[in-house]
Amino acid sequence: MLNIYDITLKELQGQLVSKGLPRFAAAQIFGWIYKKRAEDFDLMTDISKGSRVFLKKNFQFIKADILKQEKSLDGTEKFLFKLEDLSSIETVFIPEKKRSTLCISTQVGCKYRCEFCASGFNGFKRNLRACEMINQYLQVCDSIPSQGITNIVFMGIGEPLDNFDNLIKTIEILTASKGLALSKKKISISTCGLVPQIDKLSALNLGVRLSVSLHSADEAVRSKLMPINKKYPLGKLLKSVRGFIRSSKEAVTFEYVLIKDINASQDDAKRLAKALGPIKSKLNLILYNGSSSEFKAPEKEQVDSFKEILLKAGIFFTLRKPRGQDISAACGQLRARHKLIR
Ligand code: SAH
Repeated sequence: MLNIYDITLKELQGQLVSKGLPRFAAAQIFGWIYKKRAEDFDLMTDISKGSRVFLKKNFQFIKADILKQEKSLDGTEKFLFKLEDLSSIETVFIPEKKRSTLCISTQVGCKYRCEFCASGFNGFKRNLRACEMINQYLQVCDSIPSQGITNIVFMGIGEPLDNFDNLIKTIEILTASKGLALSKKKISISTCGLVPQIDKLSALNLGVRLSVSLHSADEAVRSKLMPINKKYPLGKLLKSVRGFIRSSKEAVTFEYVLIKDINASQDDAKRLAKALGPIKSKLNLILYNGSSSEFKAPEKEQVDSFKEILLKAGIFFTLRKPRGQDISAACGQLRARHKLIR
């Protein structure tokens, strides 16, 4: 039996046609699943009996359990899911004035072991399937019915571009016009910098946005913070990012977590301004959010002089307030804190 949330519209059309069933039924079925949110094929009254028998024989509606749900004082909500194999993953809902963003996990654990990020502390277990990513969206939607989700970021646990095919499939399902019909412009993929996969994404030219976790414009510092930099150094990464900008004709967002005594000095700001100056991009500064003994967020004065240098250099940036600190909302933290970690 397959999970119905794991199939794209095209795949469903193919399956129906191969059984001699009408191709157009796939769009209706998608409408039932994602617009009307039916969880029983018998409810799909305008679908022919034959198609329904085929669906019942081959597909199930399988959803993950919400193990824990925590709400921060600032409104951020974090969901801990238990999957079929008892792995746990987390999803964060971030309401803001004009939009509300869902931060989706793409893997159980992470291979890339960025020093300051909790996602990789327990290593990597497996890729999430498309249905497991779709499920995060559906379950959170059900839990916050009045608010709705306007934006999606693949920025939870894991490296989205390391789970490339399932990621693309998930985006296909989320954006299918007969289903959830989310806008590709409101979907953003965050990467630690996997150059070949960024190039592959550029070639597909899907219309989704790209965020790149930069965290330093110095090769040695970046390699220390993010071991992936040894394989795909800054020069190669920025070239590949430029390729994405060329094909998508959209700016890319760089993420930069400010960490005291590591990447937050005035020299770091100058290097960053020099690296980003020629690139059509936005910069998101984020204060380190965590409780490690090794890392701390810089003091306000340091952050101010960092910002000042960027301003003078004409670099467009925003300083994001850490959200959900009281519920460990940064990547992998809830999962790491939870005893049931697998
Ligand atoms: N692997 C992808 C997506 C997951 S990480 C990537 O690297 O982009 C999502 C973002 O959260 C990254 O920018 C990551 O560097 C940042 N992050 C991880 N731990 C953090 C922490 N403790 N404080 C602030 N940001 C953190």
